[in-house]
Amino acid sequence: ELGSDTMDGRTTTSEDAFRQAQGVIPGGVNSPVRAFGSVGGTPRFLASALGAYVTDVDGHEYVDLVGSWGPALLGHGHPVVLDAVHEAVSRGLSFGAPTVTEGELAEEIRRRVPAAHRVRLVSTGTEATMTALRLARGFTGRDLVLKFAGCYHGHVDALLVAAGSGLATLALPGSAGVSAAVAAETIVVPYNDLDAVAAAFAEHGERIAAVITEAAPANMGVVPPLPGFNGEVRRIAHEHGALFVQDEVLTGFRVGPAGWWGFEGQAEGWEPDLLTFGKVIGGGLPVAAVAGRVDVMEQLAPLGPVYQAGTLSGNPVATAAGLATLRLADDAVYARVDAASAQLRSAVSQALAAASVPHAIQWAGSLFSIMFGAEAAAQGARDYAAVQATESWRYAPFFHALLEAGVSAPPSAFEAWFVSAAHDDEAVGRIVDALPAAAAAAAS
Ligand code: PLP
Repeated sequence: ELGSDTMDGRTTTSEDAFRQAQGVIPGGVNSPVRAFGSVGGTPRFLASALGAYVTDVDGHEYVDLVGSWGPALLGHGHPVVLDAVHEAVSRGLSFGAPTVTEGELAEEIRRRVPAAHRVRLVSTGTEATMTALRLARGFTGRDLVLKFAGCYHGHVDALLVAAGSGLATLALPGSAGVSAAVAAETIVVPYNDLDAVAAAFAEHGERIAAVITEAAPANMGVVPPLPGFNGEVRRIAHEHGALFVQDEVLTGFRVGPAGWWGFEGQAEGWEPDLLTFGKVIGGGLPVAAVAGRVDVMEQLAPLGPVYQAGTLSGNPVATAAGLATLRLADDAVYARVDAASAQLRSAVSQALAAASVPHAIQWAGSLFSIMFGAEAAAQGARDYAAVQATESWRYAPFFHALLEAGVSAPPSAFEAWFVSAAHDDEAVGRIVDALPAAAAAAAS
């Protein structure tokens, strides 16, 4: 019945809602990529989500591969998380005073990622990276920041230069409204290019406060770091007195119990000076965090001179959802997410190969995305320039064929696919069944 439901083509309620929204919300959406700009068509307005599935306002059910862009590690609406939220709600929505749950969530983050010696909770990943930069500047007394082209760290002015995610989707070099003075304080170098990092430090080393990098980039499609890259960038930064900020807003507690740092830093015995988290640590409600070295973190007000605050920071309902989510995210959860992701990667690749579509599936932990084209197939895409040279136009027909068949993939070639622990064999099977038609659409 899924087929007949989703194949009937009726999206009238979504269309009406989109029209209404466009009259009052710029573009009809509150975050650009939701508008289907790069794939075309009408975004599905969602009514509910449960487990591996979402249901739109026209009553169609889709297997979900967006996962709210990362938070839904356990799948949607896990009953234990919902219970924790209901219990918190029954005690009040927001106090503007400290609560026990905040300390418990911060402690749970540190237990899993010991490099997070101190943790400050905020509401969005953008706030977390913004605060990390302010801390790095306050701590070092320097102004410049080095970032990598194609890495996305939220819509912080200084980090909207050559960024991925929505900017990649919309093919924008940066954002209007970022002052020239702010943009001039950001140095951008190609990802995976240690020579470029070394050259930037050779030229500006004494003025660079920090290097910020996605732990494993997944906002220009997935572009994994070459082995040893993060550790070497950290070493170069330290050689010049700059801090190393590892942005794990997307990878943190998603790719493994200790995030990407668990695979590299923890395994190799090094710590970033600062880390940022978001998405999974709120379990679907707004929680993010900046964390790291004691001496750096204690520069934050009220202990130190670096100001940072938030009316809703550490909100009791949001932290209850995050804490319940992290406590449920055990080895079995990661094993399931990894297994489902591996199954899907191989099924996508097989379907595309059968339709003679040259491609590479790039992955980092359970995160993956498709790079179309012979060049990507031959050598992969290791930086933003290579990603931009891929045949990403093949993604729109691929995406729509999946959607027609009841599979909701991310509406952009430059976003990762998000698998959850609720993606059981049934959910994975529905996706696999939809792939041949999608691959055929990508071929034409
Ligand atoms: N950093 C990374 C790596 C992200 O992927 C994102 C969001 O996608 C952010 C920061 C910004 O987080 P938020 O959208 O919660 O502001």
